[in-house]
Amino acid sequence: MKLTENMLQKVEGQKEKIGQLLLKHTSLSEDQLNEALQIQRESGLLIGEILLKKNYIHPHDIVKVICHQIDIPYIQEIDVDAIDVEIIQNIPINYAKNHELIPIIETQKNVTVIMTDPFNFDAINDLREIFKKDINVIVSSPLKVNDAINRVYERANKNMVQSLEDNFEDNLDLDGPIDILDAGADEAPVIRFVNSIIFRAVKERATDIHIEPYEKESVYRFRINRVMTEILRQPLKTHSAVASRIKVMAKLDIAEKRLPQDGRIPIKIAGKDIDIRLSTVPVGNGERIVMRVLEKNNNILRLENLGFHGQVLADLDDLSSRKHGVVYVSGPTGHGKTTTLFAMLDRINTPDRMIITVEDPVEYEIQGISQIQVNHKIDLSFAKALRAILRQNPDVIMVGETRDQETAEMALQASLTGHFVLSTIHTNDASSVPNRLIDMDVQPFMIASSLAGVLAQRLIRTLCKECKKPKKVTKYDLEVLGIDALPKGAELFESQGCPKCDYKGYDGVTVVCELLMINDEIRTLIINKADAGKVKKAAQRYGMKTLRHDAIEKVLMGITSVDEMVRAINVEENEEE
Ligand SMILES: [Zn+2]
Repeated sequence: MKLTENMLQKVEGQKEKIGQLLLKHTSLSEDQLNEALQIQRESGLLIGEILLKKNYIHPHDIVKVICHQIDIPYIQEIDVDAIDVEIIQNIPINYAKNHELIPIIETQKNVTVIMTDPFNFDAINDLREIFKKDINVIVSSPLKVNDAINRVYERANKNMVQSLEDNFEDNLDLDGPIDILDAGADEAPVIRFVNSIIFRAVKERATDIHIEPYEKESVYRFRINRVMTEILRQPLKTHSAVASRIKVMAKLDIAEKRLPQDGRIPIKIAGKDIDIRLSTVPVGNGERIVMRVLEKNNNILRLENLGFHGQVLADLDDLSSRKHGVVYVSGPTGHGKTTTLFAMLDRINTPDRMIITVEDPVEYEIQGISQIQVNHKIDLSFAKALRAILRQNPDVIMVGETRDQETAEMALQASLTGHFVLSTIHTNDASSVPNRLIDMDVQPFMIASSLAGVLAQRLIRTLCKECKKPKKVTKYDLEVLGIDALPKGAELFESQGCPKCDYKGYDGVTVVCELLMINDEIRTLIINKADAGKVKKAAQRYGMKTLRHDAIEKVLMGITSVDEMVRAINVEENEEE
């Protein structure tokens, strides 16, 4: 239990009584109190603080005294046998233990809870949310509360295993409640059990839930802060009911138990949107269930939202799902390279993949992904971090930036040993990347065998929809666009600026890009150290749309202006950064 400053102050407010109250309600002796009062006169410290430091009282003694002062019921003994196990169905045991609380009585209007800390308002709020009723608090000692938690949960667990065995697969409830905390006592035990596991995972900020069937038992483990921890075991008999219930939630085929399946479970917990990505794999004793728990936030990065579409989007999807290979995103600083990488990672952030990133700095925090921050002070460079990461054998590695031979070689090498690697690199276009790597003294054959694709991108501002209007086409416009006349029906736009766009004329950004997909012909060119121009020509023959081309298209579609195109395309990479 944590003693807050607030509590100590509260006791201190009644200086004359505190000593007497502690004498009366705790094992504090008169001599000890006098000694503390003496120290207080010299030091000016709070009396409670002194007594605690001297170990004359236990932190809980302070709470006890506060309860007497402000009339919160305090009980010495808890009648554990009188507690109905139904009442703890929706409270995970770890939650009860962490907050040292146990609900004991539920009526139509309210729920009475015994806690060690009546000022734990976070927990009281949680309970109000869970029960949707007012909460009455009674206080007892940590020893008594913990003992009650252990005994009541043990009794509940026995009941649950019994009913899971009895009910097996009937009553799986095809729809289920929308918010899992709304599941009442009338739901089937398996539903309440699965809900409580998910609730517990979210509460404990677990990123993965593993449920694995062994010879006699089904083992439940959570990954919290990258570390797997066993949380409970159940008899193997219960495994198939639990697996079926989870598959129902993900709308998977529950009859299919011999093939791996993937699915998603969108769920609400206490009003929070949670996205669970599920994968099932048949193993010896049943199906291994792995769930990745992702809290939905509003600014989820999606390639579509960033402006990728059509063939490029399809190719990026193809690249993201590879088991090995290196993909680089290139472009000037401030043109969204990292954002694109994270949108790609989000697409493949599923429970069957272990993803580790090394970044400088960590820009987005993503659940389910282990992120490492480069630290030059302690000499933790990209290369050094990468070496450490490889020992953990991840499936996907994201290296924030490639700027030296060591980092480049390790990334390419990692891909050869079965890792998928994403990184950024500084070049003006996609076709220059192989040569940039050769300039770093990387062997051409290594590049040729590992490189899967290169995306070059720029952010380009979009014309304000409120104030944009067609403009007269000038000779300069046509020159920039490299055409003699506008295609039929096409128009060029400009904007004057209006209150809506803050008189800037532009109201957002989108991406223009070129995606170089590495094929056999380009591989040969790389091995022969062909220049970027040749690589580009070959790629265009296979349908690569260049940055310039993509920008021209966006100008002709009226998304952006000729001026903006010139500005964005001609940004030169600043090598100093
Ligand atoms: Zn405007």
